[in-house]
Amino acid sequence: MSLPEIVINLTKITKNVDVLKRIADPYQVEVVGVTKVFSGESKIAAAMLAGGIRMLADSRLENLAHLKKAFPDTPLMLLRLPGLSQVDETVILAEVSLNSNWEVLQALSQAALRYHKTHRVILMVEMGDLREGIWPEELSQLVSQVLRLKGLILEGLGVNLACYGGVIPTPENLGQLVELAEGVEKEFGISLPVISGGNSASLSLLQSGKVPARINQLRIGEGIVLGCETVNRQPLPGAFSDAFILRAEILESYDKPTVPLGSIGQDAFGEIPKFTDEGWRKRGIIALGRQDVPTEGLILRDERLRIFGASSDHLIVDVTGAPELSVGSVVEFNLNYRGLLGAMTSPFVHKRYIN
Ligand SMILES: *Cc1c(COP(=O)(O)O)cnc(C)c1O
Repeated sequence: MSLPEIVINLTKITKNVDVLKRIADPYQVEVVGVTKVFSGESKIAAAMLAGGIRMLADSRLENLAHLKKAFPDTPLMLLRLPGLSQVDETVILAEVSLNSNWEVLQALSQAALRYHKTHRVILMVEMGDLREGIWPEELSQLVSQVLRLKGLILEGLGVNLACYGGVIPTPENLGQLVELAEGVEKEFGISLPVISGGNSASLSLLQSGKVPARINQLRIGEGIVLGCETVNRQPLPGAFSDAFILRAEILESYDKPTVPLGSIGQDAFGEIPKFTDEGWRKRGIIALGRQDVPTEGLILRDERLRIFGASSDHLIVDVTGAPELSVGSVVEFNLNYRGLLGAMTSPFVHKRYIN
């Protein structure tokens, strides 16, 4: 057995897509499946496609290359703004990319012509979250320039919220995006096929039927892999939050005090730790450290246990409440998004797939 391991239940991923499609289909909103949290791993992407996802999206070209090989017929979207150094790979690997910069768009156009491709672009608009996006006042000028570029097709407008600034999607800010799109359509006599209304943070609005009607695409990662919306991290009814389970082994289990003995200086990460005296507890040392997963990303499945802390290679857990656990016992964790990202990208965590 190879521990630590992350056990990935592919059936649960497919079922989560099913739940999402039931939410989105009545509003004619297409769910684009975002694969970045699991590095575009093809088995998991296949489970998404089995649930009816038609387009996959990732922030990294390396992951898109992997997906392109595994699913040559599935259209791919690049989520992170392409860099000037990445325009060739972008047009080769992705059918669509999200953009906000005129120099990059010009370079994408030239790359598209070089490779005899037509590349679709979604222009990202800044609606307050302060990550990517052009200010609404500058949009019309950028559109007029993009429409003159050969090799590119203006697919539509998009927004990203609740990422950097935590700005919540509302009927107002998404409505403003729709108004901008309709303004552009009128001004240039064109129609924009796609208005991309954000990520898993837009799901609770969609569930309550308050996403403006013309929004017809959401780019969903966490909603599929962890089965929740991401404004309040509420579970989506019928979806699984435990499609991924992390398992690791106990190396030592001794009764020890809760406060270290001796005078206290810096810990392994240069911080001065603080302790509350809870007397002696049975402390399980688990072979799982910050090189495997960030401690903040772990959720113990056994409610009798509690995390004391972690260093690079060890997690210390209060196992007093579970007397049956001893050296060699396996402890299981659910993961939040941060934990999932860490576990899926750490080379030390073995990946095991089940159905
Ligand atoms: C990561 C990402 C998403 C998906 O976010 P989730 O919260 O996982 O649904 C959507 N759009 C962009 C631009 C992203 O970078």
